[in-house]
Amino acid sequence: MADNEYDAVVIGAGTKSLVTALYLQAYGGLKTCILETRHELGGCWHWQDGPAPGFSLDVHATVMWDWYFLPIHYDFPNFEEYGARFLYHPGAQGIIFRSSDDYLATYHRKYDPTGELTAKELARFSEKDAETFLKIEKTYVEPGGRKDVFLQQAYSLPAEPDQPELMDIWMMNYLKRPDAVYDERLMRMSGLQGLREIWEGVPIRCLLLTTLPFLHMGPDDAFGTAALSFALPFSREMNFVVGGTHMIAHSMIRLFVENGGKFYSKNEVDKIIIENGEARGVRLVDGTEVRAKIVVSGVDPYQLCFRLIGDGHVDMKVVKKIDNLERTWQAGISGVMLAIQEFPNFKASKYNPIFQGGMHGIIVWNRPDEMECYEEFAELMRGKEHENPQIIDMMHQTAIDPTRAPQGKHIISAGALGHVVSAHNEREWINYRRGLAEKLLKVFQDVAPNMTWDNVIDYVVFSAWELSKLKVNMPFGNENIIDWIPSQSGKFRPVPEWAAHRIKPIKNLYGTGAGWGTPPGASCCQGYTCYKAIAIDHGLRKPWEEKNRPW
Ligand SMILES: Cc1cc2nc3c(=O)[nH]c(=O)nc-3n(C[C@H](O)[C@H](O)[C@H](O)COP(=O)(O)OP(=O)(O)OC[C@H]3O[C@@H](n4cnc5c(N)ncnc54)[C@H](O)[C@@H]3O)c2cc1C
Repeated sequence: MADNEYDAVVIGAGTKSLVTALYLQAYGGLKTCILETRHELGGCWHWQDGPAPGFSLDVHATVMWDWYFLPIHYDFPNFEEYGARFLYHPGAQGIIFRSSDDYLATYHRKYDPTGELTAKELARFSEKDAETFLKIEKTYVEPGGRKDVFLQQAYSLPAEPDQPELMDIWMMNYLKRPDAVYDERLMRMSGLQGLREIWEGVPIRCLLLTTLPFLHMGPDDAFGTAALSFALPFSREMNFVVGGTHMIAHSMIRLFVENGGKFYSKNEVDKIIIENGEARGVRLVDGTEVRAKIVVSGVDPYQLCFRLIGDGHVDMKVVKKIDNLERTWQAGISGVMLAIQEFPNFKASKYNPIFQGGMHGIIVWNRPDEMECYEEFAELMRGKEHENPQIIDMMHQTAIDPTRAPQGKHIISAGALGHVVSAHNEREWINYRRGLAEKLLKVFQDVAPNMTWDNVIDYVVFSAWELSKLKVNMPFGNENIIDWIPSQSGKFRPVPEWAAHRIKPIKNLYGTGAGWGTPPGASCCQGYTCYKAIAIDHGLRKPWEEKNRPW
């Protein structure tokens, strides 16, 4: 390493810490260095060649919401030109049942701005559901509505632990409205119970239940309904990145370097140097020391506390809370990614042509019965494998983005509920992966008959096991770093003392990553709010004030 003295050093080039580094360098005017343990930067904004030569697949994050990079668009006008471009399918989510001809489709808001098309679909099962949806949609998009407040919270430092968060305040007022779909009692229900009370149509219940595993919640977890409350309008703004998610990392890195930032890959940080209660730099695994006035950690809270900081610096009360964080949710998500010769011929396209390549994601259940989710979950908890797993999300980016596959060929990825890392040893995981691919292909064949092995060029399986080996910060294969349960969300995430990014009581040490704040996923939110905390403490430029914007 040519230079061992910086104003700021950033540990890990993840989806959050890369953003903090960019702001520190470009707006904070600090000489900033990123140290990343892997061979390349970007963390979960990552794709690789596969499942066969000539194909490229998103190994981690792939779904990007409209609002994922709001401040970046304002503060770095070249962000899109440098490669961070979104594209979307006209359909948002669809659900198909193997045992019946039932199906349901919802539509992307850009394709269906008023929600009328989605309402029409819901009305096939229940007129009341169509009305319910339109009410929820309205309160989501109206000025000062759920989305505005959500963005304000997502791009702001969290409330003090004893104060309500912006979304709590909004929700309390919403529950009093005559057009409110929820009430306080409903908000305390499990997902399964709440969905039954709100929606008459079974397909919409099944579709929404599938959201819970992504938040690391089961169908009968308390507060499941609260987690799902606005999932439907929320799901109408999902996109992919042209060329793959890593294009976001490329754009971000180019901006960072153009502004004078330095980065070093294959440099694993082992310790944060702490002198007289102040962070003064880091020590790498090879013993090299890099000194800095500000240290930002982009790793998981557990690694930060027990490895990088170590004994004697943090109050034992906080240490205990970190030790007690839930991060081994009972089920994982396993994905099978297939390189295929020809696009699946979905039977459901007979009823609605949007299913033939027009849907962002398709869910496949065996039967239209929300109890199926519960049964599969219960079997997994007993350490068994479900013989006919549901596909909780099937995506086909190549239907709208031909850059990811050789001409005329496609990639299909299918996710299923899977086991946690500790469920199997290495040998068993090999068998599990092979078995999962076989099982999911059978499911595929029922809904798209041309999905036989003859159509498959090659495949890879990505389970909690691979994740735990690939990612230092996800040792249990938990893609959210720590579970998204109410006690570990927003102002409590990861623990109240550290939620505002300041790693108390160590001066000039900051933490970010998906283990912090709201919302889950690969957005820039927690990276941006981390910069906000540093800018306030060190009197750096505040683009949000300069540009007079709310967040
Ligand atoms: C398989 C998978 C699918 C997902 N799908 C989606 C999706 O479709 N949409 C979505 O929004 N979200 C998705 N997510 C979730 C989301 O991507 C992650 O929760 C989030 O991006 C994690 O951000 P992070 O910055 O905390 O961690 P990361 O992005 O993983 O960054 C942490 C970085 O720190 C590095 N690091 C760790 N320890 C050290 C060390 N000691 N020294 C130096 N470097 C270190 C790591 O190598 C890594 O690069 C997915 C995640 C996974 C794993």
